Amino acid sequence: MTENKIALVTGANKGIGFAIARGLGAEGFRVAVGARDAARGETAVQQLREEGTDAFGVALDVTSDQSVIAATAALEAEVGRLDVLVNNAGIAGRVEGGAQDPSTLDLEVVRTVLETNVYGAVRVTNAVLPLLERSAAPRIVNMSSDMGSLQLHTGPLMAAYASSKTMLNALTVQYARRFEETPVIVNSACPGYVATDFTGHAAPRSPGQGAAIALRLALLPDEGPRGGFFNEDGPIPW
Ligand code: NDP
Repeated sequence: MTENKIALVTGANKGIGFAIARGLGAEGFRVAVGARDAARGETAVQQLREEGTDAFGVALDVTSDQSVIAATAALEAEVGRLDVLVNNAGIAGRVEGGAQDPSTLDLEVVRTVLETNVYGAVRVTNAVLPLLERSAAPRIVNMSSDMGSLQLHTGPLMAAYASSKTMLNALTVQYARRFEETPVIVNSACPGYVATDFTGHAAPRSPGQGAAIALRLALLPDEGPRGGFFNEDGPIPW
């Protein structure tokens, strides 16, 4: 056990996840950098360490039960507790050939996207829950998107991706209800439209700006909101 707070960020080797890891490091957290590719993870860990973050790598493919079990065992051995989990890993899924047009929806793409964006978050959350429950103030942040809002109708038609974020939001509410009487606080975050590999770097916001709301939700006080959906400006309609 260390004195510092400890966070796990999934998909932290690049993009918004990397910026979240960096931001948590700046807040004094010891950060577990979840990455499905060991080499990419190690490069990110080295960069974070050079910047002064107490980071270490955790091999973590959120689609694999085996990988998640091994990652949880590694965290148990290395730190023995988690204060923050950010379920950031996510994919857009293939769009070519109308794969995400609802009228020609490719169900294989739906399955693939759900496996990472939704089942991945559940798989990781439930595996590390015993570690989170050792914290006095556990926080879980699900990295969602306003494309998943049923009211806003944001962004291009992406029936697999948008629906995956709708379901992730629904799970945020279910988890928040489950943890109602406990110190565990769960919320969904929308980073805005951020320049990463995900968007081909053709977006106005920086990864640091995208990370800001996730950081705020990761650092919530005990009386902070539960089971909500937020971007940097405040609550967003479901
Ligand atoms: P990037 O594509 O830059 O990064 C995604 C990260 O997720 C990478 O580290 C990637 O690893 C990782 N990842 C993908 N699949 C898995 C897996 N099976 N197991 C573990 N890690 C995995 O995307 P962003 O940083 O832009 O996106 C981060 C999150 O923010 C996503 O959930 C996305 O849906 C959400 N978001 C992004 C927006 C944007 O404008 N960029 C807008 C709204 C939401 P690898 O390097 O190995 O591929």
